[in-house]
Amino acid sequence: MEVLRAKSAGFCWGVERAIDIASKFASEGKRPVYTDGPLIHNKQMMERLEATGIQEVGDYQSATEVVVSDEDRENGVLVVRAHGISPERRQYLKNLGMDFKDATCPDVGIIAGKIKMHSRKGYSTVIFGDPKHPEVMGLMGYTADNGHVVKNEEDIRNLPELGDKVCMVSQSTMFTDEFWRLSEILKERFPEAIVFDTICGATKERQSDIHVLKDGGAEAIVVVGGRHSANTRKLAALVEKEKLPAYHVETAAELDFEHIKSRYTKVGVTAGASTPEFVIQEIVEKLKAI
Ligand code: SF4
Repeated sequence: MEVLRAKSAGFCWGVERAIDIASKFASEGKRPVYTDGPLIHNKQMMERLEATGIQEVGDYQSATEVVVSDEDRENGVLVVRAHGISPERRQYLKNLGMDFKDATCPDVGIIAGKIKMHSRKGYSTVIFGDPKHPEVMGLMGYTADNGHVVKNEEDIRNLPELGDKVCMVSQSTMFTDEFWRLSEILKERFPEAIVFDTICGATKERQSDIHVLKDGGAEAIVVVGGRHSANTRKLAALVEKEKLPAYHVETAAELDFEHIKSRYTKVGVTAGASTPEFVIQEIVEKLKAI
């Protein structure tokens, strides 16, 4: 089987950075190393991290109470994930009394900065994204209670009257073409709206690599990554949008190699931003061996 691997497959720099920060604390003997919610949306990698002393507390949306003991306060550290958190959550975590390290991806920090700056000037914020995603929930905390999340055209039509001062941004992992399409619709309602394309470079690269795989002759694309990973699910959706069969799997064990063998001679492999190299590599090797 000929296998085309997307150049961008695997950890983005923001996820890698957060893992490095937490891992450094663990290797230096900090115990426990807590992360506010799963450090990355990948079960296999979380298991490996847990074995090194990194432990998830809180919940996926960084919304629940975190209980720490006196011993945790004494010896542990609490690390914020790449998705980032709201200013309120940051203060809450700092007040727990443990050492605190913010590993928010700088690309998410830029989005938060734009929202903060404009909301201070009286702008309403419109975020294109998933209202239940922790990144979006964190960003909403910078909108001075004047933020609205939109997923589609209908949500834009249902926005209340926001006046002249409207600022639109995007969750970092959304589709670029969809963002621009919705921004045009927003401008029909709010012609003075300021629009910032805040989809991160790593996401854009991953999305454009799907076209590279297709142009290279891939007859189907295996998308490797966690079921909860927003950017992995979007990659699979993008493959289908390109009219290619998409196989979204978390591990090699989930992929039906016999089925692939019976249908294709050349397949592409890509992976979400939180998919570890060892998982991707196993799939690539097994496909090549067919
Ligand atoms: S997907 Fe983009 S914004 Fe999110 S952690 Fe990775 S680089 Fe940062």
